[in-house]
Amino acid sequence: AKRLQKGRITYAKDYDLGKIKQDKAFEKAVKQALDRDELMVYYQPIFSVEKGVYNSAEALVRLHDEELGWISPEDFIPIAERNGMIIEMGEVILDKVCRFIHDFKLAQTTVEYIEVNISPVQLMQQHFSDRVKQIMEKYDVRPNQINIEITETATISMADTVNANIMDLVQYGIKFSLDDYGSGYANIDYINHMPFSIIKLDKYIIWDAFKSTKAGITLKHTIGMLNELELHIVAEGVETAEMRDHLADIGCHFMQGWYYSKAVSDQDFIRLIEMQ
Ligand code: C2E
Ligand code: CA
Ligand code: CA
Ligand code: CA
Repeated sequence: AKRLQKGRITYAKDYDLGKIKQDKAFEKAVKQALDRDELMVYYQPIFSVEKGVYNSAEALVRLHDEELGWISPEDFIPIAERNGMIIEMGEVILDKVCRFIHDFKLAQTTVEYIEVNISPVQLMQQHFSDRVKQIMEKYDVRPNQINIEITETATISMADTVNANIMDLVQYGIKFSLDDYGSGYANIDYINHMPFSIIKLDKYIIWDAFKSTKAGITLKHTIGMLNELELHIVAEGVETAEMRDHLADIGCHFMQGWYYSKAVSDQDFIRLIEMQ
């Protein structure tokens, strides 16, 4: 017990120091990846229950560092948001997605659009919507081939710039998804006031529904409500056939999760699409 108590104090201090060092290392890795154009975009397919095919995919950034190995976006995105690198990174990611849509002639497959995660920091940029349009036009990508995923925190400030960017892109023909629904608060208010087409149910509320009766009831009614509002519903974190079956039963139209596939490279994604 003595050792533990003593250890605890040193631990906390060590951890903080360790975290600062780690963040510095991640920051360096991100900077290097940007300089050398080494960021990768992987694609996780999204299955349409009605169509019985993959009708879209989510673009997820991947970073591999020589020394550190794979670094999770959960670790480096917040750093990039703090130091502003997310701006350049976001443009690089969108550029790669648009090039992919163009080069692999995605319009000729079952894949109607690619979902791209956009950070609130990007939405705060004065000319964000213009940059998006420029990049898409560079590769002849049509507005309905890109779908932008944002979380509630993106809209929480309700800054004029954020709103102007969203409205401009909606007008242009890009649809928006509300990401991680159920993990935050003020959900219903956002759904009523923001122009979302798709609601993505957070994987934790999906998993909870299979662990507790109460959570199962709230999920069922949430899906019922979203259906009545004529919103498309994507369930994230679908890991088993049982989950897929039950979610389809209670009215979920689109499935995303490891049961179908993890995020894969562009080449592997194309193979998956051709195989179905
Ligand atoms: P997210 O937008 O909620 O993305 C879904 C995350 O859940 C991804 O993790 C995905 O790999 C993971 N996932 C999908 N299906 C399953 C499943 O069945 N089981 C489990 N256990 N996990 C599953 P990932 O790729 O590590 O991304 C984490 C977060 O990083 C994303 O959460 C998103 O917030 C952020 N992120 C990823 N790529 C980008 C990007 O290009 N731009 C921005 N701004 N953020 C990104
Ligand atoms: Ca997302
Ligand atoms: Ca999500
Ligand atoms: Ca998330």
